[in-house]
Amino acid sequence: MNPRVAYFSMEIALDPAVPTYAGGLGVLAGDTLLSAADLGLPMVGLTLLYRQGYFRQQLDTTGVQRELPEQWRPEELLDPVEPRVTVEIEDRAIRVRAWRWQVRGITGHVVPVYLLDTALEENPAWDRTLTDSLYGGDERYRLCQEVVLGIGGVRMLLALGNGAIETFHMNEGHAALLSVALVEQRLAGRPLSAATRDDLEALRRRCVFTTHTPVPAGHDQFSRELTERVLGRERTEALERAQRFHDGMLNMTNLGLHASHYINGVGMRHGEVSRSMFPSYPVRAITNGVHAARWTSTPFAALYDRHIPEWRRDNLYLRYAVGIGLEEIAAAHAEAKRVLLDEIQEHSGVALDPKLFTIGFARRATGYKRPELLLADLDRLRSIASRMGPFQVIYAGKAHPQDKSGRDSIQRVFQAARELAGHVPVVYVENYDLHRACFLTAGVDLWLNTPQRPQEASGTSGMKAALNGVPSLSVLDGWWLEGHVEGVTGWAIGHDENGPANTAVEVASLYEKLESVILPMFYGRPEAYRAVMRSAIALNGSFFNTQRMLRQYAQNAYGIEC
Ligand SMILES: *Cc1c(COP(=O)(O)O)cnc(C)c1O
Repeated sequence: MNPRVAYFSMEIALDPAVPTYAGGLGVLAGDTLLSAADLGLPMVGLTLLYRQGYFRQQLDTTGVQRELPEQWRPEELLDPVEPRVTVEIEDRAIRVRAWRWQVRGITGHVVPVYLLDTALEENPAWDRTLTDSLYGGDERYRLCQEVVLGIGGVRMLLALGNGAIETFHMNEGHAALLSVALVEQRLAGRPLSAATRDDLEALRRRCVFTTHTPVPAGHDQFSRELTERVLGRERTEALERAQRFHDGMLNMTNLGLHASHYINGVGMRHGEVSRSMFPSYPVRAITNGVHAARWTSTPFAALYDRHIPEWRRDNLYLRYAVGIGLEEIAAAHAEAKRVLLDEIQEHSGVALDPKLFTIGFARRATGYKRPELLLADLDRLRSIASRMGPFQVIYAGKAHPQDKSGRDSIQRVFQAARELAGHVPVVYVENYDLHRACFLTAGVDLWLNTPQRPQEASGTSGMKAALNGVPSLSVLDGWWLEGHVEGVTGWAIGHDENGPANTAVEVASLYEKLESVILPMFYGRPEAYRAVMRSAIALNGSFFNTQRMLRQYAQNAYGIEC
């Protein structure tokens, strides 16, 4: 089947052995392509190869993060493909090759993913490093990578014989330069200055843009000077004529928005927030999901296979989890918890107690995710543990190497862990990745999320937890606004509806929910807790998956039946 949709993403988490992702954006891209294969969608994925991966996180005893390269051997895992294409960068002609990974769906349908690579002998030394590291290097390096992805990707698709692509889906602004390549392709050798309004309309009919975050760092901008240096004068002047520079900067989100007929945020609230950020564009919303089979732990998968065997083919059947007995839910969860505690013992040498209420918090360590919110008042935590029942906390997450506040927050968690020792065990699991995310989201008793509103566009780790019967305690932001039913699928951390953001109000609510609602239920009314676990699966697992999400993209953005 010829691909009709090309999905471009700066990072894609395809497999634990392929470290070509940093976090949520890449995991979403991987889950999307897995679901495309399951649904038989005619899709193809494009990304870069990253021979050094993102990085392997090492933490010393005080929580200082070191970054080591994550070396892997693409040759052993991927198939080389023949064609080579050329992209012009800084007036040099750089050769690009591709490696193929095949995502095979449950019915055997294959979605190919091409990982672009410039490490070819005919390229100059620096250019060979362009596809080495994800989010490494300076602005020049990043812009060159975006040329390889956007322009190299479009040319590679053509060279591979994929001339019938109807839709180019940009997963975030990093891929926005594909719009330049598409216009050039249409002009067939005529200069960009010859492009007409019709050419722009034709481009728009082919492009879809998804924005993933309201946080400024998620929106790349490059100066006019750097743009001209990397892209050359003709393209830069064409972008200028199209009024793509604002205050002297080329904003890649803006470029992607301008090129697309369908634009969306990744949740209801994020759609609203994005509309106010980009008032001249019709921003819609399609809420994210996760790939159900990938994120369901072995014991829960076996449970679903027994009771609702259709669940892998059609995730909506997870709604029938309401028919599964609470004892069976409890037994599957006990098994997932044992796997988690075994892994922690092996990796960290810490023996946690399976009987203790266990809270999980794992995601990128960065300012707005506020990993320390739970640790705001250590006396209060000690007091809750001694009066309402003991609990333990498991943290994980990498900080971006240049994110000083994120790095500092890991150290503050370590500091608090030392101060809580003997009262509340706190473990920080090193090197959060796909594998660790699987056992963490499945094995804890409560998934905690404390982002600064309204900066969590979606968040997906709570969806992974829900598939494993793990309820969330979360700030009402991102997906939780849609997935939260108080006391049914989990609990909300309250905030001041009217006043400005007030951390103290959120901290008070967090402690209050733990102390008065959640711990008393867990230890005093275990049946009631298990009923919440089951509702998390039935209500949230059945909806917050990439199968439902991709059907919405197909129907609303791609114009394909599926
Ligand atoms: C799911 C996942 C994330 C994203 O989690 P959020 O809750 O969206 O922040 C990040 N990293 C890894 C390894 C994941 O599996």
